Order: sequence, then C-alpha cells, then structure tokens
Amino acid sequence: MFDLLKAEINGYLLLPEDKEYNDRRKVWNTFIDKYPAAILVCKTTSDVAAAVRFAKDKGIPVSVRGGGHHVAGTGVCDQGIMIDLSDMRKVSVDTEHRIAIVEPGATLGDVDAETQKYGLATPTGTVSETGVAGLALCGGLGYLRGKYGITSDNIAAVRIVTADGAEIQANEQENPDLYWAIRGGGGNFGVITSFEFKLYPLGPEVLAVDVMYDYKDAKQILQKAQAFLRYAPDEVSFNMMAVQLPATPGLPENLHNKRVIIIAGLYAGDKADGEKAVQPLRELASPIVDQTGIVLFKELQRKFDLMAPKDVPVYGTSLFVKELTDDTIDTLLSKLEQIPRPSVLVQFWACHGQMNRVPSDASAFAVRDASFLLLFDVDFPLEEAQLCKDWIESVYQTMLPYSLRKSSYLNTVRADTQITKDSYADNFKRLIEIKKKYDPTNFFRHNHNIDPQV
Ligand SMILES: Cc1cc2nc3c(=O)[nH]c(=O)nc-3n(C[C@H](O)[C@H](O)[C@H](O)COP(=O)(O)OP(=O)(O)OC[C@H]3O[C@@H](n4cnc5c(N)ncnc54)[C@H](O)[C@@H]3O)c2cc1C
Repeated sequence: MFDLLKAEINGYLLLPEDKEYNDRRKVWNTFIDKYPAAILVCKTTSDVAAAVRFAKDKGIPVSVRGGGHHVAGTGVCDQGIMIDLSDMRKVSVDTEHRIAIVEPGATLGDVDAETQKYGLATPTGTVSETGVAGLALCGGLGYLRGKYGITSDNIAAVRIVTADGAEIQANEQENPDLYWAIRGGGGNFGVITSFEFKLYPLGPEVLAVDVMYDYKDAKQILQKAQAFLRYAPDEVSFNMMAVQLPATPGLPENLHNKRVIIIAGLYAGDKADGEKAVQPLRELASPIVDQTGIVLFKELQRKFDLMAPKDVPVYGTSLFVKELTDDTIDTLLSKLEQIPRPSVLVQFWACHGQMNRVPSDASAFAVRDASFLLLFDVDFPLEEAQLCKDWIESVYQTMLPYSLRKSSYLNTVRADTQITKDSYADNFKRLIEIKKKYDPTNFFRHNHNIDPQV
C-alpha cells in the first residue's frame, strides 16, 4: 500500500513488522500506546509534502511528531501515518538579522547549543530535551518570557506544508492570517518544516535563582511570590515547583522524602542589577538551600532535565489563574494534602512582563492577563493509572472555579474540545475561519483540534 510513498521519499518508512517501528512509535509519555499504520521518518521537506499528499489522497489520518514531548501524546495516532520529524534537527544562526533558522525536529537543547555560540538566545522552555516545534506552536514558556515574551511571540516566519501538500511561507507580509494562527494555534494548520526565531543577546553566563524552601511554608511563599510579581522587573522570570524529594543517595538524608518548594528562575540582564532584583525570591521563607548564582545559560536550560520523568506513564493538566488569592491558595493546599503518590509535581509559573504585554488578539495565543500558570503532573506505575488520572482530574475540577476564564496551557493538558475552546477564548472564532481556509476537511486533527465544523 505504501510503495508509491516509498518511491518518493528521502527518509524511510517503517511498518509494524520493522525492527525500528516500536522505538519510533514511542513518545515521551509511555502511557500513550498507539500503533500507526506507518511511520515516515522524514529527512527533507519534500518527505513531509509527499506524506501529506499521499495520506490525503488515500484518506489516511496523520499525526505530526516534533520532539514527542506532549503529555497528551498527540504526536502519534492509531492506524494513520506518523510524520516523524525528529531526525530534522539542524539549527543555523543568521547573526546579521539575529534570527535562528530551526528544523522542526530540533530540541530546545539543539537551539541553545547553536545560538549560544554567538551569545544569543531565543525564549523557549526549561527542559532541554523538549521539542521546539510543539512548544513554539502552542506558546512556549521559559525563563525569558518576562523580558522577551513566549516562544510563539518570537516566531518571525515559518515554512509550512498545508493540507493540499504545498509548502508556503507565513510571516507578517506573506499569508499573515496563517502567521497569526500558527503563533499559538498548534499543529492545526499544517506541518511546519522550518521556523525562524528572533534572537537576543544573552549569556553565556546568567544569574540563576535556585532556592529550596520547606513545603510547610507553602502559603506564605505563594502569597509573597504573588506580591513580588506586582513589581517584578521584566528581566526576572521564575517557576515554583512543589515536590516530594526522592530518598536517593545523592541527597543528604535530612532531605529524603521531604516536601519542598523549589524556586528556579533567571535574571535576563546585568548580573549586578539582578542580585538586587531577585533578592525577594530568596526571602520568601527561610531557605533550606540557596544556590542562587552565576551559571552558564546552557547549563541552566539543562538543569531540570533530571527532574523530568523518563520512560514512565504520566498524566497532567494545567490552569491559568488571574491571581493567587488566599482563597485559591487555601483550596489548592488543602487538595494537596491528599496526593495519590509522592511523584505528584505541582508547579506555579509566573506570568508577567512582555509575555502579558502582547495584546490577546495579536496572535492565536490568547492568555495575556494571568499571573500564574498552575501545572499538575504525576507519573505512576500502570496499576495506579486510574487512581492518578482521577486525582489529576479532581484537582482540575477543584481549581476550575479559581481559574482565569477556564483557560489552560494547551501544551500541558489533554486534547479536549471544550478546554481548547476555552483556552483560545475570543480568538477561537478567528481560528475557525482560518482553519476553514487552510484545512477545510480537518486533515490535521490529531492535536488540540480546531474543528472547522464547530
Ligand atoms: C519534560 C517536559 C518539560 C516541559 N517543559 C516545558 C516548558 O518549560 N515550557 C513550556 O512551554 N512547555 C514545556 N513542556 C510542554 C511542551 O511545550 C509540550 O510538550 C510540547 O508539545 C512539546 O513539543 P514537542 O515537539 O516535543 O511535542 P510533540 O508531542 O512532538 O508534538 C505535539 C503536537 O505539536 C504539533 N506539532 C509538533 N511538531 C509540529 C510541526 N513541525 N508542525 C506542525 N505541528 C507540529 C502536533 O500537533 C503534535 O501533536 C514540557 C513538556 C515536557 C514533557
């Protein structure tokens, strides 16, 4: 059945009987167990176009895999063709125009490794193994969001294979409606074959915030963090992580199984000014450990790779909040008294500065007035899957009334029609119109779908 496609491609096609098939169908979240009819390991843009034309012609669904990190596992589908971009990882830098040209299978680490050679960086995320494509298309929140905005705000242009198999350019001048839609609209409009990201001078060294507090002070920490955000300079971006530490030999015994809150952040500016600016984050309570100091930006970007679970089933969700009010904090902390497993990770990502200055209708990414993004994840052994899934959904339901217009961060939530609609808010209507123009049959639907028939 796939012979015609095989004849057209520079990459290779894997069928279920092929040795590499099982490894290639896996995505980061091993809870996802899907069996595509074929996997096309793309090497060139023309491979992507060939896959789209072939699948459309034969009526076969497709999924698009960048770095494979979405918790919902939308990079793989049952019975369809998985367009696997993970071998297309080249990154090059145009120093004159301060632009990084990035292939769609690149990881955040690939981008940082190349751009930092020139003392430049683009805002991405905080775990280096994450794929840049999926992250950028649905937002992208990292340590530069306060100063330079989210990743999608920094897409200067893309090349994209649309549902008719043609490759076109989208930027401010060419196909501006598509350019608007792909900055937040995810994989709904086609397969991005090349990104251009804006770059800024940064590093190689930066001032990184790294403080660990006792979880018993959680309420005060969250209250003070919220207060800090009201006057925090754009240069400071930070995440807070509530986690139970493992009992591993690498940690001092007094920290084994201890619940802590870790503050991780960065000052994107003069390091001496930064010391003063980040000081309040070091005084949210009495620290257990404070390793705030100068580090290589590249190292900071890899620092939390170790905390990201690997080869385990995971379930996760997210909600934006306007403010961490006392009510919100109390409700959440009381819910966290009954976690199903020690591996529950609850995060609070501060949203402010440039990220929130972009008008909500300037691109598809709509949430520009939250002060925190709440993230809930748990990894589990398969026999506890239902328990953990139920618990994460119950946190979601508990916190929903405290959320900002029920909006979630689509990069960190299950693919659900209502959640997708709520998160695009007033931009949803325009997204449907653009979807009707570029993908009227909803060919690209294994994603946080914008269904043109809605
Ligand atoms: C360990 C970990 C850490 C994370 N840290 C952060 C963080 O710090 N900040 C943050 O903002 N997010 C973070 N995320 C969430 C991350 O943004 C999403 O998982 C994102 O989808 C990853 O992109 P990917 O290419 O790896 O995903 P994939 O699973 O490959 O893709 C997800 C979806 O994106 C679309 N897509 C991917 N590539 C293309 C393409 N070339 N063209 C069109 N559509 C495409 C498809 O619809 C696909 O289903 C993290 C996730 C994990 C697992």
